[in-house]
Amino acid sequence: MRIALSNSEDTSWQDLANCLGVDPDLFFPERGASTREAKEVCRGCVVREDCLEYALRNGEKFGIWGGMSERERRRIRRQRTVARVAGLLEQPSASA
Ligand code: SF4
Repeated sequence: MRIALSNSEDTSWQDLANCLGVDPDLFFPERGASTREAKEVCRGCVVREDCLEYALRNGEKFGIWGGMSERERRRIRRQRTVARVAGLLEQPSASA
């Protein structure tokens, strides 16, 4: 698969993707269909982190990116938001 990414980010990591030449439909399954095969392709992908972070940064709502489904990416976004808020709340006061 190779997706035309429509922003100005460096997306050269796609050149090393395991999914090059793989049917894109595999990564955008119908609702309720298995994601197992796509995740298998992602499992050994050397640019998995780049792919996942791209999807998280750009709010990709559909498909398998970095070996994760939409639901799994939503969970990561929530966890990061919670961690960010917790980090803000735990910062020591400057006036102490
Ligand atoms: S992690 Fe998966 S979807 Fe992303 S580039 Fe690699 S093989 Fe393709």
